[in-house]
Amino acid sequence: MNRAAPVGAMRLSSYDQQKTDQAVKSLFTLLNRDRLIQPGQKITVKPNLLMKRRPEEVTTTHPAVVRAVIRHLISLGVNPADITLADSPGGLYNHAALQGIYSATGMREVAEETGICLNDDYSSLEREAPNAARCHGFPLIRPVAEADLVISVCKLKTHCMTGLSGGVKNLFGTIPGLTKPDYHWRYPDKADFGRMLVDLCETVAPAITLCDGVEAMEGDGPSSGKKKEVGLLLASESPYRLDRALCKLMGLQEETVPTLTAAVERGFLPKEGEVELLGDSLPEITPFLPPATASSDFSSFLPGFLRGFFKPVVEKWFTARPYVGKGCVGCGKCAESCPAHTITIQNHRAVIDPSRCIRCFCCHEMCPIHVIGVRRNPLLKL
Ligand code: SF4
Ligand code: SF4
Repeated sequence: MNRAAPVGAMRLSSYDQQKTDQAVKSLFTLLNRDRLIQPGQKITVKPNLLMKRRPEEVTTTHPAVVRAVIRHLISLGVNPADITLADSPGGLYNHAALQGIYSATGMREVAEETGICLNDDYSSLEREAPNAARCHGFPLIRPVAEADLVISVCKLKTHCMTGLSGGVKNLFGTIPGLTKPDYHWRYPDKADFGRMLVDLCETVAPAITLCDGVEAMEGDGPSSGKKKEVGLLLASESPYRLDRALCKLMGLQEETVPTLTAAVERGFLPKEGEVELLGDSLPEITPFLPPATASSDFSSFLPGFLRGFFKPVVEKWFTARPYVGKGCVGCGKCAESCPAHTITIQNHRAVIDPSRCIRCFCCHEMCPIHVIGVRRNPLLKL
C-alpha cells in the first residue's frame, strides 16, 4: 500500500448509472489502479452494508457505485465469477441476516445483473498482523482473507464513536459478526480502538478505497443521522489520505478521529499537510453536523500529563451516554451487539445498566428503529 498516494475526486450530482460508471472509470485511471487488475485474480469488493436499509436511507454504500466498480473490473477482463461482494455488517453474520441485507441494500440486483457472487460463506480465517501497534492478528471473513485484491467502497458518514465512518473504519466489517463487539471490549479507549483499526487496515491492505459521497450522512451517523447532498466520489490507494481529505470536506477536526491520530502516530500520515488531490476540486459545503457524542470527550486535547488526572472526571460528568427512548419493541438487536453485555430485555423493553457501559454506541448504531438516543451533560449544550 502506498500510504502517500494522492486522492482522486470526481463531482457526481446523482447516482445516474452512466455518469457513475464514467466517474469510477476516471478515478481508476487517474490513480493508475487499472494496472493492478488482471484476469484470473480473485477480487473481493467490500461495501459498507451496516444494516438492512434501502439505498435512499444513506446508511449503506449506494448500489450504483458498487455496480460501477464491478462493471469496471469486468471491462478490464476479470471474470464475474472471480468477483465476490462481501461484508460483515453489524449484528449476526449468517445466511438469514445477509440475504435480507443484500436484498434491501440493492446488492442482490447488482449481483444478478453483473453475474458476480454474493458471499454466502460465513467462515473466517486467522491472519497475522506483523508490526502491529495493538493487535497482532485478526479473524477475517473468508472472501477477504483469500482474495488476491480487496476493493473497499465506503460511505461518507459521521460516526458517533470514531467521528468519521470512512476508509479505515469500513474495514471493521472484515471481522466476522459478533466478534466485532469483542474488539470494542478489548479496546474501550477511543485512541486504542483507532490503533487497532489501523492494524486491521494494514492487514487487509485494500488495493483501492472508493468513497460514496454523492449522498452522505451527517449528525448521528453511522445509522441515525440525516442525509446530506455532497455530490462527490473520492478514491485513493491510501485509506489514511482518503480519510484526511474526507475530514477536510466535512469540516471535521482530524484530532477527533482516532484512526487518523493513530495513523499519524505510526508515521503513515504526516502530522500536518495538504493531501495531494487529483481530478475535481472539493466542493464548498457547510460543515457536517457532528454527532451528539462529539466534543463530550475533550480529554484528548489536554496535555498528556493531565489526561490521567482528568479522565475520571470527564467520564463521570461530561461523557455522552446512550439511553433507551420511547417506542422500544424489545427486539434485542442492541443487546446482541453490546460488548459489555450491559443491556437486558425486561418486559419487552431494553434496559441499560450504565455502570458497565463503555460508551461504544454500538447499541445506538444497531437499533433498527432509532429509539436509542445519546444524552449529553446539559452544560455541554450551553
Ligand atoms: S432499543 Fe432498539 S434495538 Fe434495542 S430492543 Fe429496543 S427496539 Fe430493539
Ligand atoms: S450500552 Fe451501548 S454504548 Fe454502552 S457498552 Fe453497550 S453497546 Fe456500548
